[in-house]
Amino acid sequence: MSRLDSFIRRLAAQRDILNAIVELVNGTEGPVLEFGLGNGRTYDHLRELFPERRIIAFDREVRSYSSSTPPAENMVTGDIRQSGQSFVGIGAALAHADIGTGHDDIDAVTLTWLPQLMVGVLAKDGIAVSGLPLDRPELQPLALPAGVKEGRYFLYRRK
Ligand code: SAM
Repeated sequence: MSRLDSFIRRLAAQRDILNAIVELVNGTEGPVLEFGLGNGRTYDHLRELFPERRIIAFDREVRSYSSSTPPAENMVTGDIRQSGQSFVGIGAALAHADIGTGHDDIDAVTLTWLPQLMVGVLAKDGIAVSGLPLDRPELQPLALPAGVKEGRYFLYRRK
């Protein structure tokens, strides 16, 4: 598969999973966390899906389209490995992490801290959606929507 095909499938998987979890997320109170704002595409989609929720976005710096940039009080800049720690215990209904790079060495470092952070920020029954696998006993893998291939994107519920 070409990198273009792979990229398109990853974005389709993001959208299909986010669309599929709305009811699950709506069963739990709490904010939505977006780890890796990027240019704000998935943030914008989350805003459409969860118009009443506080959505807090994280990135090293703000590089999103102006129309997809969170208000200052909901934008956290800096390295998520550190900045995310202040949000442990916030009881998020959903945490979405799109911070994989496709470089195995970099992603291996991210995987030393991201799974634990995701567990820490989620409420009980909160949903984790991630581009990288989150191997933690507190996170129960959920079935992916039809059409999303196993291993392309990851979906869990916090026990
Ligand atoms: N989901 C976004 C969208 O739809 O526009 C794209 C996210 S992009 C693939 C990944 C983003 O995560 C980049 O903007 C990068 O700066 C950010 N990122 C990756 N690792 C990070 C870290 N450790 N701390 C802060 N930001 C990080």
